[in-house]
Amino acid sequence: MATASNVSSEVCSICTEKFRDPKLLPCFHTFCLECLQKSVSSSSKDGQFPCPLCRYQVTLPEKGVAGFQTNFYIAARAEKQVHGGGECCGVCEQQATHSCRECEILLCESCTKCHQTLPSTRFHMLINLGESGAGIPLLSIQKFCEKHNEEKLRFFCMPCGKVICRDCKLTNHEGHKTKDISDVVKQARTSLTKTKVKLEKYKKETDETYQQIKHTSNEISINIEHTQRELNTLSKSLMKSPENVINKLADIEEVNKETFSKESCPLIERQRFLQGQIDYAGAILEEGLDSDVITTDDEMKGRLKLRRDIWLHYIATMNCQKFHISDL
Ligand SMILES: [Zn+2]
Ligand SMILES: [Zn+2]
Ligand SMILES: [Zn+2]
Ligand SMILES: [Zn+2]
Ligand SMILES: [Zn+2]
Ligand SMILES: [Zn+2]
Repeated sequence: MATASNVSSEVCSICTEKFRDPKLLPCFHTFCLECLQKSVSSSSKDGQFPCPLCRYQVTLPEKGVAGFQTNFYIAARAEKQVHGGGECCGVCEQQATHSCRECEILLCESCTKCHQTLPSTRFHMLINLGESGAGIPLLSIQKFCEKHNEEKLRFFCMPCGKVICRDCKLTNHEGHKTKDISDVVKQARTSLTKTKVKLEKYKKETDETYQQIKHTSNEISINIEHTQRELNTLSKSLMKSPENVINKLADIEEVNKETFSKESCPLIERQRFLQGQIDYAGAILEEGLDSDVITTDDEMKGRLKLRRDIWLHYIATMNCQKFHISDL
């Protein structure tokens, strides 16, 4: 399994290979559909399962693992690597600027415009083969309302926190204060940037705490080793073994090793959780769709405080162990 520092955004951390059918979890960690299915089948309980990387508790969608959102950004980046080299449009002979995965065709600028307006293809997600990043989206898709198929999603309902269409505005959301998406996205972008900075701060704090705890754990081990050696010498001279104390020391060391092992250390999980959020926020800010910028910020803020209790408790437990040695 990957550690916090080498989680690459382009490789599945379960199979350590390029993603096949990448599924995005609510903690923003991505895994292959198949890898995730295997992991979930052995770890789910009551419709919930822990993320294989950060142990964030995820609720299984009704359709199962396949119901998770596909991470289109990863698929798009892979596609761009293959077709980014100035190939020709599959319709006319001009230079391709976009790729449609659904039609498996490359399109030039004018054919792209066509694709985006024809009723049969206007829902297709197109991958921008040219420059992306710095706010230029990697994907281009016109999002339409799920309820009112013909209507573009172009308003943000303030009280509901949802992206809606004109018909929604006149029916379900009548009287609600709405703003134009283009007016909201700027603010959401600024806010997501702030959230990312905050996450980076938390990550730094977690890294530092981890180092401290690691130091404590090592200190405990060294102290125990030292005490054991002294006791051994002492027992030889007394011709009697202080077994109770020796056993107690072994117990403490066992707990120490176990609490600090990478598999059970909540700080490692928190490092991975935070890194996942930071990476995703970074990618969305760089080349994400406006609607994703808006929703990502809200989702992230809701998670900032999560699981804080668990690791605060952990740090306290870890620090307590230090004093047991002098209590012997
Ligand atoms: Zn995989
Ligand atoms: Zn996760
Ligand atoms: Zn063309
Ligand atoms: Zn298409
Ligand atoms: Zn609608
Ligand atoms: Zn509303």
